[in-house]
Amino acid sequence: MKGSPVKKIETEVLVAGAGPVGMCAALFLDAKGIGVTVVDSAPGVGTHSYGLALHADTLERLESLGLRRKVEARGVPVRAIRFHDRSEEVQSLPLGEDGTGACLSIGQAELEEILAAALRARGVPLLWQHALTDFRDEGQSVQGRVDELEQRLIGYASAHMDWFAGRTKPFTARLLVGADGHRSVTRRRLKIPFEEVGTPETFAVFEFKSDAPPDEVLHIVMERGHVSAHWPLPHNVCRWSFEVDDCSALRSAREKDRDLAQWVGGLAYPALREEVLGHFLDDRVPWFAGERGNLYWRSLVRFENRLVPRFGAGRVWLAGDAAHLTGPVGIQSMNQGIAEAGRIAAAVKEMFDDGHTEPVPLIEYGNESLRQWRFLHGIDGPAAAAEGTGEYFKAHAARLRRCLPATGTGLRALGERVGIDF
Ligand SMILES: Cc1cc2nc3c(=O)[nH]c(=O)nc-3n(C[C@H](O)[C@H](O)[C@H](O)COP(=O)(O)OP(=O)(O)OC[C@H]3O[C@@H](n4cnc5c(N)ncnc54)[C@H](O)[C@@H]3O)c2cc1C
Repeated sequence: MKGSPVKKIETEVLVAGAGPVGMCAALFLDAKGIGVTVVDSAPGVGTHSYGLALHADTLERLESLGLRRKVEARGVPVRAIRFHDRSEEVQSLPLGEDGTGACLSIGQAELEEILAAALRARGVPLLWQHALTDFRDEGQSVQGRVDELEQRLIGYASAHMDWFAGRTKPFTARLLVGADGHRSVTRRRLKIPFEEVGTPETFAVFEFKSDAPPDEVLHIVMERGHVSAHWPLPHNVCRWSFEVDDCSALRSAREKDRDLAQWVGGLAYPALREEVLGHFLDDRVPWFAGERGNLYWRSLVRFENRLVPRFGAGRVWLAGDAAHLTGPVGIQSMNQGIAEAGRIAAAVKEMFDDGHTEPVPLIEYGNESLRQWRFLHGIDGPAAAAEGTGEYFKAHAARLRRCLPATGTGLRALGERVGIDF
């Protein structure tokens, strides 16, 4: 395979990781006139829907990058949240009023394609198959190493392709942004712990074509200690995620699959068998009217609740899943990560413009991001039900905070509408 012609990287900001957060960070930095290069160890953008919705404030952020229409053209609007227990609807909450805007459901792969195309259109270098392996904060700059990865055929009896480090490329940057996901090399090199701040949540996730009329609704079902959620996707595909009891053997299942859709064997994970999906639908959401068509994707995913105690130091800072993880229902990790991408770009601009020698704006970025996540995880105080709040919301107040499709002020506004003060 022919390597990239780039021999060494000199840039104002190096972004490690071209997931949604890293690519958004690069777009925000570029829009502010800051030179940026993105490297990613993977061969290209992801191939699946993973974090599949954009919150109202994320849509505004994408609008500022001129990308709102592009994502809207490939997604479906989600105009209401409907809360249920097993047998009936408890409350419907229209989005788009009282400070809570509508969301957009769009597969993460589609979003990543749009972001990668926007980087290409702006001429921002995005080097795939380039892994950040090492760096040193030198005070006024960051120096380090990126390895270009090569695919080679290995094995004799059963030959297969695997990835190897090929050419090593030195880099120099004024700043490094680690948006390199939950196994972040940046975080580990900085020796920042990734502390558990809540119990892990395991979900059996199914995507299938349904003949139910598209309802543009996020359905959240809370009962018997489990959460189930339905997000609509374009082309009448729906995603149902059913919380299951913890399976500790699942750590390796949380691999980002970049080739084909991820299938986890039904034999290895009985919770993914087709008949089990039928059981979940009958048992947990008997009111769901859709006839099940093609089952496109199923996966058992363990979502941990983790948070760093600090977002970085000096000239190296984290954003996105590199710094935090949470459950899947409200798609908060990716959306909050995109908010961080906007904030870190503003902080870098301020730092570079004002000639700060100390990274004061970045320290503020880190503190603000930490505040937001402590709030999301309810670390600084439990949710409180207002007088007159219904039993359903009272009973689920704590869990609700991490299931709503919003963060920050949008989350507080949604909470207020169901009588919960987060
Ligand atoms: C199977 C699965 C299902 C999911 N389902 C949901 C869901 O239902 N709801 C939800 O909210 N979220 C879900 N998520 C999580 C969601 O995908 C993430 O929150 C989101 O992708 C975070 O974006 P990010 O850019 O921070 O990190 P990522 O998307 O993880 O991107 C990190 C990037 O960094 C690259 N990278 C890693 N190491 C290096 C290195 N050393 N050098 C260079 N590049 C590197 C990786 O290749 C990757 O492209 C799911 C994730 C997975 C894996």
